[in-house]
This record gives sequence, C-alpha cells and structure tokens, in this order.
Amino acid sequence: MDRRIFIGGVLGGIVSTLILKNAESKVVRMPTVFLGHGSPMNAIEKNSFTDFLNNFPKDLPKPVAILAISAHWETKGSKVLKIEKPKTIHDFGGFPAPLFQVQYPAPGSFKVADRVMELAKLHPVEADSSWGLDHGTWSVLKHMYPNADIPVLQLSLNQNMTFEDHLSLARELKPLRDEGVLILGSGNITHNLRRVVWEENAKPVDWAVEFDLLIKNALLKRDTNVLLGKGPENKSLWNMAHPSLEHYLPLLYAYGASDEKEKIAFPFEGMQMGSLSMRSLIIG
Ligand code: ZN
Repeated sequence: MDRRIFIGGVLGGIVSTLILKNAESKVVRMPTVFLGHGSPMNAIEKNSFTDFLNNFPKDLPKPVAILAISAHWETKGSKVLKIEKPKTIHDFGGFPAPLFQVQYPAPGSFKVADRVMELAKLHPVEADSSWGLDHGTWSVLKHMYPNADIPVLQLSLNQNMTFEDHLSLARELKPLRDEGVLILGSGNITHNLRRVVWEENAKPVDWAVEFDLLIKNALLKRDTNVLLGKGPENKSLWNMAHPSLEHYLPLLYAYGASDEKEKIAFPFEGMQMGSLSMRSLIIG
C-alpha cells in the first residue's frame, strides 16, 4: 500500500472518531429547578402534583446527572454523596407500609461528586458515603424519572452556613449546569408542620398564601434581599412559614445557580394540607 494513502486513512479515522466523540459529548445547559415535595405520601399517591411531576421531564433536557439539595439532609459542614449505589432512605415514621417499600436504585456519580468538591472553593465540600437518597429526593424523582437510570447525588445543607453562604455556594456550582447536571432543590416555600390541616382539600390559610406570594414576587423581581429574609416584611410571617429553615434553603440553590437574566416559570403552584406550598419553579 502507498504509504501516503495509509497515513491519510489513519488520519481520516482519527478525525472521524474525534468528530463522533465530540457529538456524543455535546451536553445541553440545564435549567435549575426547585420542587415543593410536601408529604412523603406524594411518592405513592396520584394527584395534580404527581401528575405535574410525571410530565415535567418533557420540558427539560435529559440530565447527565442530578444534584439534589434536599431539606432532609442537614450536616455540620457541607457534604456531597460520593457512592456508587446510594441506598434509599426512609427517613420518616408513622406512614403506611407501602411507603417503606419504595426503592429508588439510581446510581451515584463519582465524577460529579469530584466536580462539586472542585468547584466549591469558598465553601469546601467533603465526600460522604454514609447517607443515601432521602425522601426529599426520591419522592419526587420516582415520578419524574421512574426508571432510576440517571445518576443522582445529594449535597447536604450545612447547618453552620448563613443564607448568604448557601447562595454563594450555589453560585460556585453554576458551571455544573453546562456539564448537563440538573441542580434540583427539594423543600417547600412554606413549611410549618404544627400548622398543617390534616384534611384533603383543606382551604389554604392566609399566612401561607401571603408568604408564598411574597417569595413568588421576590423571585420574579430577583429581589435577593427578600429571598435572604432581609426585606421589610414582618419577621413573624417568616417564623410562621418556617419555624426551622431546612425546607426553605433548597430554594436558594435553584436561585443562586441561575443568572440575572434567566426566565423564571412556575409550572406548579398550590397548597397541600392548607399550609404546605407546593410551588415549584424552573429557571433558565
Ligand atoms: Zn420535607
């Protein structure tokens, strides 16, 4: 064989492999998402919220991986779940047996866990292999991605951090979006379990409606002061809506990892049990 033809063939092969590789690795910038998760029973019930979750992935590019920030994983220091096969954690009590049988066997991702630790420079994050997927994560993903075939990680809520710190950590994680990672906060915009009304179709209570609207408007105006609890509004309203803050904080991750000019939409809104805002949002 002519040497030039041979070299040309080899080079052509390399170029076409590179083109193919490039096409395969082309990832789409992901939006950020916050979901209200409400009662763990939503995992096994069918209602307007779970119908929304079932259909929601049609509006999203398919993620390479999901980084969930759940209200139900609080730690001293920030942790990211770095484990090949995260276990399904049933972190609740007093619910019917079928809820304890739910499994969500999504794989983890060492690669994304390492990226989280690499990006988080101001607020260091450590690898954790003791946690798994808690119900803040699996109760919603079970409806969105029932095949559990997308790698899922969790980032903990560091109890030593302020609102500003959470927002700043979220900003550091923003590049993950360009790598196909869905940053998903899971909590509730209002969450006071002492004030829930244990009735189906309970009428929404005034303070919950007021706080939910306050946050909705602050998001639309990108009024960070209000979102960080520094607005002029009544502090007792904050205390009523969030006697503890863990269900609010995941919202700051969806917001913090977004850009000023990105569009915010509310694909689901409404209250469950009178005072649990199920408002969910997508940015970008
Ligand atoms: Zn919860």
